Amino acid sequence: MPYCEDCAKYWTPSAMNADGTCPSCGRVVEAPQRQSTVTAKNLDLKQLAVGADGDVDDVKAPWHFKLLMVLLVAYLGWRIVDLFV
Ligand SMILES: [Zn+2]
Repeated sequence: MPYCEDCAKYWTPSAMNADGTCPSCGRVVEAPQRQSTVTAKNLDLKQLAVGADGDVDDVKAPWHFKLLMVLLVAYLGWRIVDLFV
């Protein structure tokens, strides 16, 4: 666990700055984290969702999902009609 002598304080790795410096005094207390480590600061949800190329337009719903939605709307529509008949 990284320890800052200036602040006399232990830090969890996630509480420290991304470059391994103390969040309080800025002193380097640990080697920088590897880039593969996922933190709240470097997490890119959009890139995770669309893949490495980052092309948002390529994301489409699969055909069976659309079929499921059509069937769901038809079923719920029939249930609403059935309420009043
Ligand atoms: Zn410090």
